Amino acid sequence: MNDNAAAIVILGNSALATARRVQERYPQARILGLQGRVEGADALYANAGDCLRQLYRDNTPIIALCAAGIVIRSLAPVLEEKGAEPPVLAVAEDGSAVVPLLGGLAGVNRLAREIGEALGVAAAITTSGELRFGTCLLEPPPGYVLADLEQGKRFVADLLAGQSLRIDGEAPWLANARLPLAEDAAHRLRIDAQAGAAVAGELLIHPRLVLACAEQVDEHLPRHVRQALDAAGLAHAALAALLAPRQQMGNATLADAARRLGVPLRFIHNDAELPPAQLTAPGLSLRLAASPADADGIGQARGRLSVVGLGPGAADYMIPAVRRALDEAEDLLGYETYVNMAEPLRPEQVRHCSDNREEMQRARHAFALAASGRRVVVISSGDPGVFAMAAAVMEALHESDDAHWHGVELEVLPGVSAALAAAARAGAPLGHDFCLISLSDNLKPWEVIEQRLEHAAAADLAMAFYNPISKARPWQLGRALALLRQHRAAETLVVLGRDIGRPAEALRVLTLGELEPAMVDMRTLVIIGSSLTRRFPRAEGGDWVYTPRWYR
Ligand code: SAH
Repeated sequence: MNDNAAAIVILGNSALATARRVQERYPQARILGLQGRVEGADALYANAGDCLRQLYRDNTPIIALCAAGIVIRSLAPVLEEKGAEPPVLAVAEDGSAVVPLLGGLAGVNRLAREIGEALGVAAAITTSGELRFGTCLLEPPPGYVLADLEQGKRFVADLLAGQSLRIDGEAPWLANARLPLAEDAAHRLRIDAQAGAAVAGELLIHPRLVLACAEQVDEHLPRHVRQALDAAGLAHAALAALLAPRQQMGNATLADAARRLGVPLRFIHNDAELPPAQLTAPGLSLRLAASPADADGIGQARGRLSVVGLGPGAADYMIPAVRRALDEAEDLLGYETYVNMAEPLRPEQVRHCSDNREEMQRARHAFALAASGRRVVVISSGDPGVFAMAAAVMEALHESDDAHWHGVELEVLPGVSAALAAAARAGAPLGHDFCLISLSDNLKPWEVIEQRLEHAAAADLAMAFYNPISKARPWQLGRALALLRQHRAAETLVVLGRDIGRPAEALRVLTLGELEPAMVDMRTLVIIGSSLTRRFPRAEGGDWVYTPRWYR
């Protein structure tokens, strides 16, 4: 199984239409196009071979819309490397053929069928076992693990050579497979949580049923769990989850133990939820769920709340950790415009859009969702800590004595703030000491703003103004400028950045003497230079603006 988002690799514009159809089926997949040949891809690469090899090494599923030969030649040098083997498919650029090439155990045939369905063609499945039996016996569904791959391959080869088999244990996913079943068959498929190597003529699959319930937590927990599994004769691979009481949610040693055991960590509200103990060891008990599905449903995960900044708008200006948090989110909260800026999203991700001014309510809603075990993202534009949601989220938590809210895994992921994005476009107007001031008097008295402007002006700081003006706050910017003009010369440089990083981006360089409130709206970031901020012509026209690093 491979849960990474796929890369759709195209070499020319002629493949773009098919690439888009594949992307409709997998909205998280990115279209990568060859630089200079493709317009409208999500990202560009310079060399097809390097790009394919890098994706392969990163364990990224590859859907290449080009000749199978190109893919085969490109990947040949990396096939011997140990490590990842993601699914790799070649798809004809006109969508007429889908050929799974590599990654038989990573679900390539399933992908091929799905893409074939999306394009209205049959996938070119060549795996004999799969063709004959309608399923890949070596790729059991989530919740089940193959005990031994090499033995499995021999087992399937025997079946293809004419052996029949019987099934011991519960294998619900095989109900519709076309297997050569016989009650008295010598070969058997065994579904069993017990440890022990598969014997000849046997295909052993472990169901993940075992729950390890921790009562005491220290750094030896993983070893104790393994010892308990051995003592109970259970396969390590049959471990489904590490369980702990809900009060332990914030325990980092516990989280580390689950990571080392390679299983999810789940929290239980009370012992009545649990199946009876199979084995009790000091500080620990092992229990068996009736099925992998039951094991999955016990308790709840530790919820996660990520407060993220999208940056100014362009996807390239978003840090990768934010993209990951968005991709993993189950719930997204934010002002509608920003939630839409977080695309691509999947239909099953719940969008809770609200008005821009309901910040505290939104923060509390986010905690309530995360405390129930969900993965929640609160979205701001720019940086979430700059006149945005992070402080509201902190305040909501600070005010709360709900232990479940405090147990949530909380993280703040930064973004490129409007002042930094606008400054970068203009050159380096914030190249020396500067301050960020919101001109909104919604949450602070206007006198405080005036005082701060006064001090910042007197200190000759460069300034960036957020929320400079709005319909509800029409006069404030004019007052601020009048005040600044008492301290700074009319020649002081000003940068106006509007919709930076968005399609309607506009940048303007002028002087404090020329600046009028009518030139500014709520989508504008205003930078006022210091006495040393200067400009010079740039080759493309217009000016570069910078504030030198020195002072005199
Ligand atoms: N957290 C955001 C700021 C939110 S306050 C950040 O770090 O950027 C909203 C103000 O930010 C707007 O009134 C405007 O002054 C500024 N702003 C936000 N995005 C902008 C953009 N793309 N271009 C110019 N200004 C922007």
